[in-house]
Amino acid sequence: MTDTLHLDKRQRAMLAEMGVRVWSPMSEAAVMDAPAVETLVVDTSASVPVDAVMQAHADEAHSFAAASELATQAIANAAGAEGVTRHMPTATPVLKEKPEPLIIQRPEGIDQMDWSALHTTVSSCQACTLCSTRNNTVFGVGAPAVEGQAPQVDWLIVGEAPGESEDQQGEPFVGQAGKLLDNMLSAMKLSRTGERTPEGGGVFIANVLKCRPPGNRNPKPEEVAQCLPYLERQVALLKPKMILAMGRFAVQALLRDSVPEVESTPLGKLRGRVYQYQNLPVVVTYHPAYVLRNLPEKAKVWADLCLAMGRVKGAE
Ligand code: URA
Repeated sequence: MTDTLHLDKRQRAMLAEMGVRVWSPMSEAAVMDAPAVETLVVDTSASVPVDAVMQAHADEAHSFAAASELATQAIANAAGAEGVTRHMPTATPVLKEKPEPLIIQRPEGIDQMDWSALHTTVSSCQACTLCSTRNNTVFGVGAPAVEGQAPQVDWLIVGEAPGESEDQQGEPFVGQAGKLLDNMLSAMKLSRTGERTPEGGGVFIANVLKCRPPGNRNPKPEEVAQCLPYLERQVALLKPKMILAMGRFAVQALLRDSVPEVESTPLGKLRGRVYQYQNLPVVVTYHPAYVLRNLPEKAKVWADLCLAMGRVKGAE
């Protein structure tokens, strides 16, 4: 299943600069003039200055930014995996086996999906290898959806990925980290299933990845890239008053297009400000699992929650 990305000539040229090959069932020659493509093929062996690519992100429209981000990640991966510096190429090329190109597929029609269609699509997603090891997809939990439409919520909490218990139960944050999150919500007079009332409230909790990485390893860049359209669409449908990004994977996923160097900036340095994602406010804080291992950081998380609550109240 693939999606159609509309790329103009300038975008195609930029993708070519970044080592991203645009593939289509048509001939290579026809592709350069074609109005649309079905699949992006990222050449992970490409070596271009990553800063230039980051600049390209800032300049491009949303769909293109997603595509170029994939390229950036593939490039960064290739650089990391091969121990090269960020600014290549070198004078003497090292002959190595060319890695397989990374094929990125956006779910077809995702930008038109309503909440229930999105949920169904996530449930049957096979876009990356995590589908072969998962027990359940984890779409999220929160205030009830009414007639297939997104729940009305003031808050969207974004975590990293399901762990073992979440994969078993198909619900996010049900383990120890989830207990801490529930306590935080309760301190904010919110709850994971509470509906929005005239006084406010309403929460939805989701992750960057909808499937569990085996052994609770970190999400891989290509997994994040494949899964991100789902979170993007969840945000677009929920339109929360506040997005709370918990932990570095959530922060990087949401702020990669708006905050330069976000991937190399420690979370502690990003805290304390209100950012934007899809024109909605975002506050960043530590992941509950990290807080469980570093209990003194709880006070900082509370400060972040107060910042977010103040912003929500101020907007009313
Ligand atoms: N950690 C997360 O980030 N999400 C979960 O759902 C559980 C643990």
